[in-house]
Amino acid sequence: MTLPVRRDLVGKSPYGAPQLPDAVQLNVNENPFPPSAGLVADLQRAVGEAAATLNRYPDREAVALRTDLAEYLSKQTGVPLAVERVWAANGSNEVLQQVLQAFGGPGRTALGFEPSYSMHPVLAAGTSTAWTGVPRRADFTVDVELALQAVEQHRPDVVFLTTPNNPTGTSTPLEVVDALCAATSGVVVVDEAYAEFSDRPSAVTLLDQHPRLLVSRTMSKAFAMAGARLGYLAASAEVVDVLRLVRLPYHLSALTQAAARTALAHTDELLATVEEVKRQRDRIVSRAAELGLMTVPTDANFLLFGLFDHPGATWKALLDRGVLVRDLSIGPGLAGWLRVNAGTEDETSAFLSALAEVV
Ligand SMILES: *Cc1c(COP(=O)(O)O)cnc(C)c1O
Repeated sequence: MTLPVRRDLVGKSPYGAPQLPDAVQLNVNENPFPPSAGLVADLQRAVGEAAATLNRYPDREAVALRTDLAEYLSKQTGVPLAVERVWAANGSNEVLQQVLQAFGGPGRTALGFEPSYSMHPVLAAGTSTAWTGVPRRADFTVDVELALQAVEQHRPDVVFLTTPNNPTGTSTPLEVVDALCAATSGVVVVDEAYAEFSDRPSAVTLLDQHPRLLVSRTMSKAFAMAGARLGYLAASAEVVDVLRLVRLPYHLSALTQAAARTALAHTDELLATVEEVKRQRDRIVSRAAELGLMTVPTDANFLLFGLFDHPGATWKALLDRGVLVRDLSIGPGLAGWLRVNAGTEDETSAFLSALAEVV
């Protein structure tokens, strides 16, 4: 039977990395630290209270949660943000999809600097937005001249810039964000999924100067809440109003809102894991050098290591030793590299032992 599926979806494979719970899982940039017993107890209480009114739809505007997110982001970046300027959805992937539904679409174009997060072009395809990939330099930094030239040439409706960049860990200075905002008449989306691992200033500090700048964040990485599915965005109140036109009604469940607010009430405890994660990341960097491997300078909780003639074979050899990393080497500009994220001390040790055996 042939399904009457959209022609542009025929032959495509769904996005997703292997999920192998028995392996040491260092392939999707999660925070390795599970919630503390105290947080689990608070989550049970909060989700239990929300359960008592599950016959009702949740707050469609998620005002309490967005207020908490605005407060966190204001504190973290030093920029006062009102609730009207913060939006939330089920993971930043949903936020980014809404951005493309609202600002992209048929006849429109999105542009990004590759290699970068491969979901950006996937979300573009899903919303029938044309995609333009502009290559980064060999060291994975953004070539500003080339970037501005590409914006001039393609006149994109949406520009994506990931910093620190996934999968390379590379940061892009705010001057580049500034220049992109000035050069385009479209919106500029700075994907800051890994911002809490970096000491550099956030693009949130540029929001007041650029009404078409959008900064997306997530609770999936530093906040150690990947399973809760909560992403958010800071922008102008006008941008948030436009996103309301495409969001599904009641898109954030009452349970998600309750869980996310509880996690935010434990911000200090959750973000205390960041320093330990960075320590383990730096261990990987030093040990890789001892083993004669190259790594790419990183401001995130993961890094690229290589170079391998046959990264697929190295990936498999590590998995045979019980450690799961990410092979993105078939992607644009990533030949020879593998990506690994920092784990707990034990997980990182397991990875480093396996690595010493296979190189
Ligand atoms: C992990 C990641 C996300 C987060 O996705 P969620 O849907 O919030 O889990 C967004 N952007 C980048 C660049 C990422 O690496």
